[in-house]
Amino acid sequence: PAKSRFAPSPTGWLHLGNLRTALFSALMAWRHGGHFLLRVEDTDAERSEQAFTEALYEDLHWLGLDWQEGPGIGGAQGPYLQSERAEIYQRFYDELEAKGLAYPCFCSAQALKLSRKAQLTSGQPPRYAGTCAHLSSDEVQRRRDQGIEPTLRFRVPPGKEVRFTDLVRGEQVYRSEDIGDFVIRRSDGTPAFFFSNAIDDALMGVTHVLRGEDHLTNTPRQLMLLEALGLPTPSYAHISLILGSDGGPLSKRAGALSLRALREQGYLPIAILNHLARLGHVYERDDLLPLDDLIGDFDVARLGRAPARHDPTQLDHWQRLAVNHADDAVLLGWLDDQDVSAEQAQQLVAAVRDNVQFPADLRAWAQRLLKGLPEFDADGQALLRAAGADFFQQALQVLDSAPDDFKAFAQAVGERSGARGKALFQPLRLALSGVMFGPEMHRIWTLLGPAACRARLEHAAV
Ligand code: GLU
Repeated sequence: PAKSRFAPSPTGWLHLGNLRTALFSALMAWRHGGHFLLRVEDTDAERSEQAFTEALYEDLHWLGLDWQEGPGIGGAQGPYLQSERAEIYQRFYDELEAKGLAYPCFCSAQALKLSRKAQLTSGQPPRYAGTCAHLSSDEVQRRRDQGIEPTLRFRVPPGKEVRFTDLVRGEQVYRSEDIGDFVIRRSDGTPAFFFSNAIDDALMGVTHVLRGEDHLTNTPRQLMLLEALGLPTPSYAHISLILGSDGGPLSKRAGALSLRALREQGYLPIAILNHLARLGHVYERDDLLPLDDLIGDFDVARLGRAPARHDPTQLDHWQRLAVNHADDAVLLGWLDDQDVSAEQAQQLVAAVRDNVQFPADLRAWAQRLLKGLPEFDADGQALLRAAGADFFQQALQVLDSAPDDFKAFAQAVGERSGARGKALFQPLRLALSGVMFGPEMHRIWTLLGPAACRARLEHAAV
């Protein structure tokens, strides 16, 4: 069975970009009845934060992307935090060194920079020049004695072609000559990304690696490493980047598009999932799909190569559908911090739910319809003046005869005042609800009840 994984580095909040990678990875595994694994790549102690790790667990659960193997769940190949796997990595460093496939490198950052510059000016591809590739053991010891902490470099085999078939981008060919010996352990002893990432995929039995195309050129290095260690290699799918609606990279706006921020605004998980699932993957059906259908209709072959574009109006479209489909309980939850009774909340939701997209919308309706008398803006005041105090007096006169039925009431007001069409309905809507848009009037009428309707018509008449 397929096993895929999401391997985030806890250096920030999850945002639409990395969440889409998580989603596609999960869909890939679940589509084939497999496992979705979570691994936290927290080897960079300076940039990783415990708070981000906790947040990513919570965010993934909230979205419904529950992992079957990983932190909190366990599995045969744990621990699932890379910071706890140092001993495992050490075994493989030792093995590579023993085979002569890795060597300590004492080059300073400064020296590497100069060498890179020189290569660039002479038109060569920048790659490690091999300065430390053949130091004698005496030489190595001498430098260690000077207190220089070396990095460990992988010795890239010369004259090799590395080939793999990317599930999105097709056949890939790299020449090892173009890839310099690369660092697999930093001078502080922590593993470099290439290394721990590849080793863990192999040890954890990952069959499919879905990740951003920015990792494409890392793949030949990782394949060479795995081959040198005789470890199994996964299949790779490098998915296109997401661009903002202006065509620029989305990552620049990562803060605004963090899941936290979207959740705060009231976006529902299923809306976000439907939006993400279509960023770079084609679904034939364009209705709001439950997670089971997102899984069922997922197909790696439908992942596009072209960059996907994040259009916020699309996300809002899914949100509208998601709210339409949501249980009343979800909308009632949005009123938890409002000072309204359970009964009022229920009636309000029944009356306005088709006019609500976000919690803020619902709270505004609570404010308008359940709290004191409306306040009118300048346009509203002008409209009330145009209707005239007489109009509202006449409305009050017919109020008692038709209190249960807005239609009958409006008809009676029309007959009494002579107003028709817009001139009849606009002032009534405004007087009763405080705004010119909203649900059908009979809903507002029922929600308000006779006493509040009377008070509002009186309020509009002055
Ligand atoms: N920790 C890496 C990242 O967040 C993982 C990349 C991968 O999926 O292989 O970019």
